[in-house]
This record gives sequence, C-alpha cells and structure tokens, in this order.
Amino acid sequence: TASLAQADPEIANAIKGELGRQQHEIELIASENIVSRAVLEAQGSVMTNKYAEGYPGARYYGGCEFVDVAENLAIERAKKLFGAGFANVQPNSGSQMNQAVFLALLQPGDTFMGLDLAAGGHLTHGAPVNMSGKWFKPAHYTVRREDQIIDMDAVAKQAEEIRPKLIIAGGSAYSRAWDFKRFREIADSIGAYLMVDMAHFAGLVAGGVHASPVPYAHVTTTTTHKSLRGPRGGLILSNDEAIAKKLNSAIFPGLQGGPLMHVIAAKAVAFKEALQPDFKIYAKNVVENARALAETLRSNGFEIVSGGTDNHLMLVDLRPKGLKGNVSEKALVRAGLTCNKNGIPFDPEKPFVTSGLRLGTPAATTRGFGVAEFKQVGALISEVLNAVAQSGEGSAPLVEASVKEKVKELTNRFPIYQ
Ligand code: PLP
Repeated sequence: TASLAQADPEIANAIKGELGRQQHEIELIASENIVSRAVLEAQGSVMTNKYAEGYPGARYYGGCEFVDVAENLAIERAKKLFGAGFANVQPNSGSQMNQAVFLALLQPGDTFMGLDLAAGGHLTHGAPVNMSGKWFKPAHYTVRREDQIIDMDAVAKQAEEIRPKLIIAGGSAYSRAWDFKRFREIADSIGAYLMVDMAHFAGLVAGGVHASPVPYAHVTTTTTHKSLRGPRGGLILSNDEAIAKKLNSAIFPGLQGGPLMHVIAAKAVAFKEALQPDFKIYAKNVVENARALAETLRSNGFEIVSGGTDNHLMLVDLRPKGLKGNVSEKALVRAGLTCNKNGIPFDPEKPFVTSGLRLGTPAATTRGFGVAEFKQVGALISEVLNAVAQSGEGSAPLVEASVKEKVKELTNRFPIYQ
C-alpha cells in the first residue's frame, strides 16, 4: 500500500527527474512521442498482473475475461485504423514483430532484401550484428548517390538478380515517400513476400497524410510508440488469412510467452485516440512542422539529405559546417534540444561519430508546437551549431546556456503532464 516515493525513493526520484527532463526540453528524436495520461494510466494498471498466453477466447489461463475485452478492442481498433483484415497486437517490441515475420515466412539461410542501415534502414532489416543478418542472408538496396533517394529501377534489377524470398520496405531514417505499389509489383514479379515496416510513419498513415502500405504489403509491421503515439510495443497487420495464421503462431508460441496485457490495453487506448478527427490534424501538423524545420535549417546553411522531407523526419548533413554528429548532438542536448547523431548515406565517418543528425517533429507537435515554433527551433539549432563550429572546441557554453533559457520559455508556453 506504500506509494512509490515511500517504497522506493531512488526510483521515484529517477522518474521525477525524467518527467522534469521531458517537460523542459524539446524532444526532437524522430522515434519518440509524448503519450496521453489515458495511455499512461492503462499501461500502469493491474493488467500487468495477468497471464494470458494464447489469444482472446483461446487462452491457456483462466480469469482472462477482462484482458480479453482489452485485446479484442485493441485488435478491432487497429484493423479499423489501418483498414486491415487481421491484426496481432501482442508483439512486445518492434524488433520482436519483425522477428515474427522472419519466423513465419522464411527459413534460416533464406535471402531477403531491405534498405541499407547506412541509408536509413533498421537493424532488424539485416544488419550483420542483428539476428536478421546472422541467421538469414540479407542483400541491401540503397539510395542514389546524387539525390539520396531510393532508385526503384535499381531495386527491381537487384531483386531480379538476387531473387529474395522477402523484400522489406520502410526504415528509421528515410525522409521520402515510399512507392509501395512498385515494391509489390517487384515482389510479385519474383514470387517474393513484401513486408512494410511502417514503424516511423504509422501515425501519418493513421492520420491520412501518408500513403498506406496495408493494401500492398503481404504483411505490415509497426511499433506503436513513435508517430502513432501509443505505449512501447509492436503491431502486425495483414489482409491474407493464411499469412495471418502463421504470424499468430510465430508471435505465440513461436517467440513470446505471456503477452503484456497492460501494454495491450494502452495500445487500445492509443488506437482509439488515433481514430479521432483531431489525430488527422495532428498528423498534418507533424508533416508541416517537419517541412518548416527543414527549410529553416537549409536557409541557415545546413544541407538536408535528399533535399527535404515528405514525412516527420529529416537527416541533417553537417558537413557544410565542418561539424560531426556526435559533437553536435551533445551540444544541442546541453541546450535542451534533444536529438540523435545519425549516419548519412555514404557517410565518411564511423557510426559513433557520423556526419549527421536525425530530427523529427512528432513529440514537439504533440505538445502544441506549430510552424512558428519549429522555425524558432530551427533558428536555435543553427545558433548552437554555428557557435560550436566557430569555437572549434566542440562546445560553446555561453550560447548553449542562452539557448537553454529560450528553450525553457518555449516549453513553459507548451506544458506537458501538468
Ligand atoms: N522498425 C523500425 C523501422 C524502427 O525504427 C524500430 C525502432 O527503432 C524498430 C523496428 C524496432 O523497434 P523496437 O525498438 O521497439 O525494438
């Protein structure tokens, strides 16, 4: 019955610190967001106590009548939100949802294609250090050197030569539109499966401002915690009943045991939120804000990989300023502008250094930032990085401190979790 603060002051203080950090910084990490109180409440609920191996109506444990309500609602809402015939809401994470697709559709050693990590792909799409790269045979397509955009003719040619069993579209740092129809045509031409991992832009699909992969892909996967603004976790969608059955078996009992029912309840809440009309406005604002930020940075002498963005994120090429990603990330974080260093296509620097930064607008848009605020954010980023470039020492303490004050003013005007 003791409160967290009484039972475990160390953890209570860490959580309090994290709340303060989120309240007073500007979150620009493209994969993060700020969930509603309702999502937090569902996730912090007694449903964490329940074992529910199996699926609604067919569990290996008694007492599942209420968690079944939550899971059925999550499934029905996900199907409605994305126009899918089938949804599995149990994946504990994005990595596990993608593993489930490999387990369901491939055999170890099978060849598949995905976007190169260095060009914006994800670890689970065949990085050598990931299970997908160790136990399967990845071949990567990449972007054109001249415009950093995926060349669909090159993808078609490579697929014809390599004949993969699975082609993956989607990634973690690609700011341009995906041609799902063409990807499906290429997959069909060689009898391959098409999987689209829409983890990054799922919220934009839900909000109707991004093409949906669901009509084209054999299987669509997404995390629920990025632009979709739900709890951390995964979701698998399909319109093919036979594939859907295999995916269900791959998640349980193939990879997971008892599902995280509190998280599934929170997913259901987030899907309900994403079905409301104001989520469409949110998604539209995320994209408009990303364009405004990209344009502001360009007008301040930065380059944006591929020249701009069609979605919620952008990669900033720091080379025109003579800066590296690691140093720039640290300086911006000190100034209250949280972001991450990121390799750019054909990056001459190592992954721990990099020549780029990845910036995204979903989180700050949630707190109410519009185009005017994002122009200001772009100006603040430029102020810090120009000062760091001039100092030649990797930091510019006076400018960082003065920008931090301006960040505080901005975040005070758009409070969260009051
Ligand atoms: N797929 C994509 C495209 C991602 O960006 C991510 C997150 O980094 C994942 C999968 C993995 O998600 P998680 O971090 O939940 O394992």
